[in-house]
Amino acid sequence: RTVYLNGEYLPETEARVSIFDRAFLMADGVYEVTSVLGGKLIDFEGHLKRLERSLNELDMPKPEAFDELLDIHRELVRVNDIDDGLIYLQVTRGSDGDRDFAFPDPETTAPTLVLFTQSKPGLANSPQAEKGLKIISIDDVRWGRRDIKTVQLLYPSMGKMMAKKAGCDDAWMVEDGHVTEGTSNNAYIVKGGRIITRQLSNDILHGITRAAVLRFAREAQMEVEERPFTIEEAKTADEAFVTSASAFVMPVVEIDGASLGDGKPGPVARRLREIYLEESLKKAI
Ligand code: PMP
Repeated sequence: RTVYLNGEYLPETEARVSIFDRAFLMADGVYEVTSVLGGKLIDFEGHLKRLERSLNELDMPKPEAFDELLDIHRELVRVNDIDDGLIYLQVTRGSDGDRDFAFPDPETTAPTLVLFTQSKPGLANSPQAEKGLKIISIDDVRWGRRDIKTVQLLYPSMGKMMAKKAGCDDAWMVEDGHVTEGTSNNAYIVKGGRIITRQLSNDILHGITRAAVLRFAREAQMEVEERPFTIEEAKTADEAFVTSASAFVMPVVEIDGASLGDGKPGPVARRLREIYLEESLKKAI
């Protein structure tokens, strides 16, 4: 695999980052994941805008190649011959060769920019979408700025492992009695045809797929309500689903052992998945 590191395309075994890099020592880094379908980038502009916002919120300098990111994504898709898959991008604050809590001088310390591809044949035809996900609920103990897409992913990783141990696929996190989001996706329930999902705030990541799916839902005259909901409300919902750049729209069929509807992916989730894939492919670049 060819990867990108700070201006160079390199074999993955030759790409090296300093042990003093602040993402390694302090999780001082942000990331994006963009999906590739049929060799084209899905929702690229949304991911780029959110990256810019994450960098701003953390006073992290933009990498020099920021304006070339579309070309870099496309080149990696080309050289790695990616048909369906993902592109992972990470920007870290880099390193001045020392460890210090204070940020290094941005004039002399350049950020680290890394991109690599992951080939995922049949990404849009995942068998998971036919079966639906089984979810457990766990306490949301993450930091208070979940709107910034940082690489502090230890708790979400623990959540996935807790779900696996329980024979499930993923976890929804709960804070003050209300669902925030999934470990790596935004969470939705459907009641009486109405789509309910938590409103945007610092408590959740502002999903790029979420924005597109809600727009398509409203365009299709579906009712959308942005408000918090409890796990109890979710367990008695008609259906549920999650959204993310890698899973698109993925139905949820079980929450904390309670089956939703007839235990199969619901009609609203199925329809939204179809609409999202169709419409976002039309705009893919
Ligand atoms: N919430 C969290 C916590 C996530 O990690 C992700 C995926 N990175 C999402 C939501 C979904 O965001 P997007 O649709 O932009 O992939």
